[in-house]
Amino acid sequence: MISISTIRTYMFCPLKLYLEQNLDEDKQKDILLNKTMKELRIDLQDLFQRNIRRLRKEMELEEIESNLNTNIINYIESSIAILENSDFEYNEAILGEKTNNNEADEIELLKKELIEEANFNMKILALKSQKAMINNERDGTQIAELFFPTSMYSYLMRDPQIELVGSCDKIEIIEGKYYPINIKPSIPPLKGTWDSDAMELVASALLIEQEFDTEVFVGFVDYLKLGDRRPVVMDANLRKGLFKVMNEIKDIVNEKIVPDINVTIQKCVKCEYNKICHKDEDLE
Ligand code: SF4
Repeated sequence: MISISTIRTYMFCPLKLYLEQNLDEDKQKDILLNKTMKELRIDLQDLFQRNIRRLRKEMELEEIESNLNTNIINYIESSIAILENSDFEYNEAILGEKTNNNEADEIELLKKELIEEANFNMKILALKSQKAMINNERDGTQIAELFFPTSMYSYLMRDPQIELVGSCDKIEIIEGKYYPINIKPSIPPLKGTWDSDAMELVASALLIEQEFDTEVFVGFVDYLKLGDRRPVVMDANLRKGLFKVMNEIKDIVNEKIVPDINVTIQKCVKCEYNKICHKDEDLE
């Protein structure tokens, strides 16, 4: 079985997938951290969805923002505190080491980014909600559906026939149609989506089609840093591209074939394996 997270790593760099499969110690920890951050972002969306119901059409923008913000910062701070403690316990119990300053700084940085991101998204939602309430002469409860359609979060699916497994961040269901949504903390490209995001999305689309016996024509990537939603059309080329990627992943994972890659320094700078791939080079 190939997972959506494996496709994500392959799309970042095939060599990274090879190294992860063959010499990784910290992989489990990274997966845990990424999973927790993703769940946290999804929980924040859920909180906004609840808070929007507090809004009244006569509220000023400032009051709308303060209502939308209810419990948001507290939630981030308490969740990060739990994450810091579990990181400490993980290091002691599993790795037999103490949490070092770099790891603590990394978590602090994630908290800062998350608070900025939540604040930015709250402000966008506040403006949109105010406009929707005035134009429709409705309160928050009645416009909530506009911004938060019926959805399933982190829904795990598998398709034994094509040997694919994974969970979709969010599946929105509108008038009986299913729309896979990827939630990304990154900045989008100038146009469209990053190839890797489209590839993850088409994998989710295939799983949704099998799970719910339906057809998926389009999905979306929510880029939280800019509060921007970008569509991805599930056309034949993208679907073919996914199967090509899955075959290459099988070669790396099952046959242990070292992939040929085009090095992208911008990626290497962010990659935890750069000390292996660029031993004597200064990447800064
Ligand atoms: S350091 Fe660069 S080349 Fe090496 S695995 Fe990471 S992204 Fe790929």
